[in-house]
Amino acid sequence: MREAEAEAQALGARVAEGDRRALARAITLVESTRADHRDAARALLAALPARPALRVGLTGTPGVGKSSFIEALGMQLAAAGHRLAVLAVDPSSGRSGGSILGDKTRMSELARQPNAYIRPSPSQTTLGGVARRTREAIRVVEAWGADVVLVETVGVGQSETMVAEMTDVFVLLIAPAGGDELQGVKRGIMEMADLLLVNKADGALEPQARRTCADYAGALRLIRPRPGDPAGWPRAMTVSAATGTSLPEAWAAIDGLAAARRAAGTFDARRRAQAEAWFAHALETGLLARLAAHPGIGDLRRRLAAQVATGALAPEAAADAVLDAWVRGG
Ligand code: GDP
Repeated sequence: MREAEAEAQALGARVAEGDRRALARAITLVESTRADHRDAARALLAALPARPALRVGLTGTPGVGKSSFIEALGMQLAAAGHRLAVLAVDPSSGRSGGSILGDKTRMSELARQPNAYIRPSPSQTTLGGVARRTREAIRVVEAWGADVVLVETVGVGQSETMVAEMTDVFVLLIAPAGGDELQGVKRGIMEMADLLLVNKADGALEPQARRTCADYAGALRLIRPRPGDPAGWPRAMTVSAATGTSLPEAWAAIDGLAAARRAAGTFDARRRAQAEAWFAHALETGLLARLAAHPGIGDLRRRLAAQVATGALAPEAAADAVLDAWVRGG
């Protein structure tokens, strides 16, 4: 075995012993796109023990209180003896150069807990790239001993779907709204959510938060329940990240739903389906990358594309010709 891969295995062993510095290095390694780092990352991942954890996805538009909520809930979980990891997925960070967790003041109290680990969003070029890195980071933090993994994302684009597809329970955080209550929350995101939390239910905002919650609860009754889930799910609740009100109840709801799914067999079924879908996705992206990297194929593709454009060659025939040439090794 090559030296770098042996080193990666040793790093994996230190992660499994609960070493935080090794954890940070291991995640940096899986986030790297360098080919030699990918080999080492594979050796690392293969060396990591699989440990059971609850993976919770959390989304909500900027300003709704995601970091306040994670900090407050995370402190409660850490005090209760949990080990928590927070991973962020920010599809905008590649463009802006920043990230939703880039600001060091976010979750500063939680970040100081020995039983908590917070990782900002990797800078990325594609959402697919972030998805791979986040999936692998989940395995690293679980091997480190995190029994709760929170994957946070902002409410834009495709990132919610991606996070829902890598977590066990999906939570949508909402702000109290006036007037047109259901505004701004895309129906698709609401349909993905298991638990809707109306945050900021404190002080002058509390009555408004309760009304908003009732409106959403009504809307959720129109959504078909997920097969196997107990009655009353998906559900909506009010919380306050600022005062801590109802945070234990929110956690009990998340944990209770996970327990019910475990008992019904749907928890493992969802994990299996997620793994199979990821396998298919990895195969497709891997095939495309290898096709693109193959010497000679690029030339052939360009030549045939010109013929397709003029109508001299049918698109399907051109695609077959490229694939045949590739399979033959030319
Ligand atoms: P994020 O962008 O979703 O991570 O939101 P933040 O956690 O940064 O919070 C945005 C703003 O809402 C901040 O000014 C917070 O102080 C405030 N905020 C967050 N949670 C609450 C809450 O429960 N009640 C009230 N009143 N304000 C809150």
